[in-house]
Amino acid sequence: MSFDYPGRLDRVRASMLDRSIEVLLLSAGADLLYFTGYEAMPLERLTMGVIPVDGDPVLVVPRLEAPRVVGRPEFSIEAWEETDNPLDLVAGLVGSRARLAVSDQTWAASLLGLQERLPAAQFVPAAPVTGSLRLLKDSDEVELLRRAGEAADRVVARLSAMRLSGRSERDLATEIGALTVAEGHDSAGFSIVASGPNAASPHHEPADRVIGPGDGIVIDFGGRLGGYHSDTTRTFHVGEPPPDFADAYQVLRRAQAAAVDAVAPGTPAEEVDRAARTVIAGAGLGDYFVHRTGHGIGLEVHENPYLVEGNDLPLTPGMAFSIEPGIYLPGKWGMRIEDIVVVGQDGLDRLNRSDRGIAVVE
Ligand code: ZN
Ligand code: ZN
Ligand code: ZN
Repeated sequence: MSFDYPGRLDRVRASMLDRSIEVLLLSAGADLLYFTGYEAMPLERLTMGVIPVDGDPVLVVPRLEAPRVVGRPEFSIEAWEETDNPLDLVAGLVGSRARLAVSDQTWAASLLGLQERLPAAQFVPAAPVTGSLRLLKDSDEVELLRRAGEAADRVVARLSAMRLSGRSERDLATEIGALTVAEGHDSAGFSIVASGPNAASPHHEPADRVIGPGDGIVIDFGGRLGGYHSDTTRTFHVGEPPPDFADAYQVLRRAQAAAVDAVAPGTPAEEVDRAARTVIAGAGLGDYFVHRTGHGIGLEVHENPYLVEGNDLPLTPGMAFSIEPGIYLPGKWGMRIEDIVVVGQDGLDRLNRSDRGIAVVE
């Protein structure tokens, strides 16, 4: 994939002008990757992209990281030595410009150091500036999300055919990481394996519990492909599920389908959350759906747009996000269905197509 980096720079400058921002400071993380193609290690040493609205962009990197930088013609590289203070360098590049937008993941130590060196400057979040671009995926970005989603679906298919009882959550989570790569991701991200009552905690950390007969299992995992993430959840059950579990699962499936059906250009993001919540609350299980319905996905696993009550952002073609309602009965069980979808010009593009029923396993 060759992304349109010059176009991204033009668009972000327009976005800066709209918001009277004179310099954009991109710290190590997704914003920097989006504009430079360079993935900086999350070190304490400063890496920062400096984009003045009226001057040439500079990428400030530690000397020892410079060999890893694949240069872009739009950015000149300023490598700093171990004995330099990179904040002095950044402050010098900012000069007398006064309104600075800073990426969300900037270390507090860096931001405080810049504030000390630039006492007259006003610091604002970069998220509204960069987010308005990153929110709308172009066709190359959608293609990478699609390939990641397909790879994740193949992992689900393999898990559905495996014997899960007798294995610890941790052991299975490790294998899921390996399968995530074997099925085509560049790297594994996270794997949640939550069995039996552990599944009532949506982000359960896989531990020593051994999966056994009668367990429901929530498996939520993802990896990265070409910088873009997958994130999918399916619910498994060792042996046929009991009626209370199966009945609640039917509610969950209807809720997830209702949320997917609610996605259309122009629909406020919160309407998708409401669609899922209405079904679950209608079945008397509303208290057990304890998180938002979804999150945007791209260079980060969780990014805008968030599908949550109070977010009236209209859905727009190019937005990619998860739809992942869940029901969690403390002390008993949990269940979740998660797919990634993209808003298309005429309808919805589903990036996960693996079976959404309960996967009954041994
Ligand atoms: Zn999550
Ligand atoms: Zn997930
Ligand atoms: Zn998710």
